[in-house]
Amino acid sequence: MKLSVWLAVLGYGLIFPTLHGMSTAVFAADEPALATSASEAEKERIRAIVKEIVREYTASLGDRQTTPGAKDIVREITQSNRNFIRTHGPEYYKPFLNSQHPRATVVTCSDSRVHTHALDATPDGDLFMVRNIGNQIATAEGSVEYGVHHLHTPLLLIVGHVACGAIKAASADYGKESPGIRRELDTLQVAKGDAGLNSIKQNVNNQVRLALGKFETEVMSGHLTVMGAVYDFKNEMKLGQGRLNIVNVNGETDPARIAKLELMQGLDAPVSKAAAPRKAAAKEASPKEPAEH
Ligand SMILES: [Zn+2]
Repeated sequence: MKLSVWLAVLGYGLIFPTLHGMSTAVFAADEPALATSASEAEKERIRAIVKEIVREYTASLGDRQTTPGAKDIVREITQSNRNFIRTHGPEYYKPFLNSQHPRATVVTCSDSRVHTHALDATPDGDLFMVRNIGNQIATAEGSVEYGVHHLHTPLLLIVGHVACGAIKAASADYGKESPGIRRELDTLQVAKGDAGLNSIKQNVNNQVRLALGKFETEVMSGHLTVMGAVYDFKNEMKLGQGRLNIVNVNGETDPARIAKLELMQGLDAPVSKAAAPRKAAAKEASPKEPAEH
């Protein structure tokens, strides 16, 4: 559509509601509160119309709208995908062609430095990943519930990480952030002024506590273990760079007691994925559950 047409539409969008707003204000002169709210509603309507026009105009720009660097990124993604197709035959897709049977629901931060392959050498089909800023339950409740209730993963793993930007923001004044970001920081309960390991662990523990409350039945019946960990890619905990440090098991946070748990014994012994069976049989026996997500 030509820009002149857009401007005509824009003019209609701005002028008509303004005239309409004026008439509303005249007739509602005895009710100032009503006039104010009507005026706010009109403003909101104009904003929505302008946004829609800008969105459609942007879509019509084609090559005139360019993001520096985007082409290189798209090229790399396309080539990586072509390489993936070339190196993965039909056999690769067979185990999860019609359904998924992940072994763990993992809630971790969106941070690009938290690598899935740091937790699982072959995560394909094995990890139901939920990512958001600050590795939270509150901002991804439905996704986490899906992993536990519908996919029946026996493990819910919450992974925080060192140098977390969300924790840093939540521990400071984030009043100038956008409403969307503020909403996702409001649910992080950490001490003001402390963006370090204490707050990172505190947040992981908070998330485990939330999960234990939410999935009490599964945990009490022995169908779910909730574990909290910190991925340390800077070796701040001095236990090894890149190590996933388990800091909470079903609410237990004492390192000595965690170390004594049966779950933690023999972790260095070689293990094959076949030795940790998936609950495929149980899942397939429940027809009302969605087959895939
Ligand atoms: Zn983070």
